[in-house]
Amino acid sequence: MAKKSVCRTHDCSLCCTLGTDVPLTNKDIERIKELGYKEEFFVEEVKGWKLLKLEDNTCVFLLGGICSIHKNRPESCRLYPAVFEVNTNEVIVDPECVYSDEFRITKKDIESLHALSDLLDKERAERLAAKGLSVEQVDKIVDENGLIDEIEEEDEPETVDDSNEEKQEDKKNEEKEEKKEKIQPAAH
Ligand code: SF4
Repeated sequence: MAKKSVCRTHDCSLCCTLGTDVPLTNKDIERIKELGYKEEFFVEEVKGWKLLKLEDNTCVFLLGGICSIHKNRPESCRLYPAVFEVNTNEVIVDPECVYSDEFRITKKDIESLHALSDLLDKERAERLAAKGLSVEQVDKIVDENGLIDEIEEEDEPETVDDSNEEKQEDKKNEEKEEKKEKIQPAAH
């Protein structure tokens, strides 16, 4: 798939702004942490998945329309717009990509995405197992019982009162802004 030339030809990074869930492997996370980023800056855990963090539906690493970690971006980003369609177990070109007609999926893309999907499933299962949960348990009861909310809230600090909560939120936003200013966009 000549994907990168298509993105570059059109100077397009729209896919990084669509609120798409980008699952991360443990290796992706370690590689990005080695660049100096703290995990809490770019990772969000949901139902055992580790996902790239978004702000206003946009990836935290997209700066000025450019991926600031391009050479070290996650495997899912490298393979995009080839995506794994879970319902049909098929690899497809994401129809949300505005240039999807220009991409061709190769055999290698299909193999890579199947391997990636297997790895993500395995790592998710390991994460849940470390919390004493199985994938089946979580998938079955999460929506009914709010179990995931309990899991995700485990590590969050307790808030004292509303005004403190607001101050903490303001401080977090200020820190995020400071961090962003320090990151220099990489050349595309
Ligand atoms: S890591 Fe880079 S390529 Fe991947 S979604 Fe974020 S900005 Fe886009």
